[in-house]
Amino acid sequence: MLGTMDDMSQYREYMKQALELARKGAGWVNPNPLVGAVVMRDGEVLAAGYHDCYRGPHAERMAFDYADAHGIDMCGATVIDTLEPCCHVGSQPACTDLILAHGISRVVVGSIDPNPVVAGKGLRILEEAGVKVVRDVMRSECDAINRHFFHYITTGMPYIVDSRRRVGESDAEYAVRRRELYATYAAVLAGTESDVSDESFAHFDGPVQSVGADEVVIGRHKPLLLKTSTLAGADPDEWLHELGKCKIDSLIVERDEAFERLSTACQKD
Ligand SMILES: [Zn+2]
Repeated sequence: MLGTMDDMSQYREYMKQALELARKGAGWVNPNPLVGAVVMRDGEVLAAGYHDCYRGPHAERMAFDYADAHGIDMCGATVIDTLEPCCHVGSQPACTDLILAHGISRVVVGSIDPNPVVAGKGLRILEEAGVKVVRDVMRSECDAINRHFFHYITTGMPYIVDSRRRVGESDAEYAVRRRELYATYAAVLAGTESDVSDESFAHFDGPVQSVGADEVVIGRHKPLLLKTSTLAGADPDEWLHELGKCKIDSLIVERDEAFERLSTACQKD
C-alpha cells in the first residue's frame, strides 16, 4: 500500500527525523548498521529512538521502551524506520516481535536489510501478521548512511575509504573530512603511529595494537591502528577477510602504496 501523496510527504518528514537520529550512532555501532525510528499517530510523534552503541538496544526497542515507561499506548500507530526491522533474536530481541506486541498498524521503511538473516523477511513477517508496510521511502538517503554496513555484511570485508587529499580541497575541508573519518571508521591502516598522530583528530585517542582485541575498540569511537607491515606479503583479499572476521567493517588507508594494493579488492569512497 503506497498511501496518498499527503501520507507520503508526511512519511518523508518523519523519515528525515529518523535519519537524523540514526546518524547519532555513527562511530559507536560498528559493525552494526545505523538505525533511527520514529513512532507517530495522527500527525503526532509518540516516541523515537536510535541504535546508539554496539550491542545496545535497537532503535525500535528504544522507542518502545520510552513509550512503555511513559504509559503511551502505541496501538494503531505508524513506525517510520530507516532500516527494515530485524526478525532474528541476537543480543537483542527481534524488533518485529516488539512491533506486533505493541499493536502497530503500519511500518514505513527506507532501506531493506541486506543481512542474509533478514533480507526482506522482517517485512514479510509484519505483512503476514496484517501490518501495512510502505517500502522505499527516502531509500537512497537511508542506504547512503549504511554503505559501510551493506558492503561489510554482503562481502565480509571492510569498506575502504581513500583518506588522501582531494584535488581542490582546502586545508579546512580536508581537516574536517579526516576528523569525521577518524570518528566513524573502525580502523586505520598506516605506516607508523606518526602518520595518524595529528592533533586535529579530536576523537582519536590512541592506537590499540591488536586486531584480536576487537571488543576493546569496536563501538568506542576511535579507530584501531593497523600497521602496513601486516599487509606485506599477504593476499589483499584474504587480509581484508581476516579483518572482517575481527568485526572491522570500515578502514581508512593512509598510505598510497597500501591503498593501491587494496583498491582492487574493495569498495571505496
Ligand atoms: Zn531490531
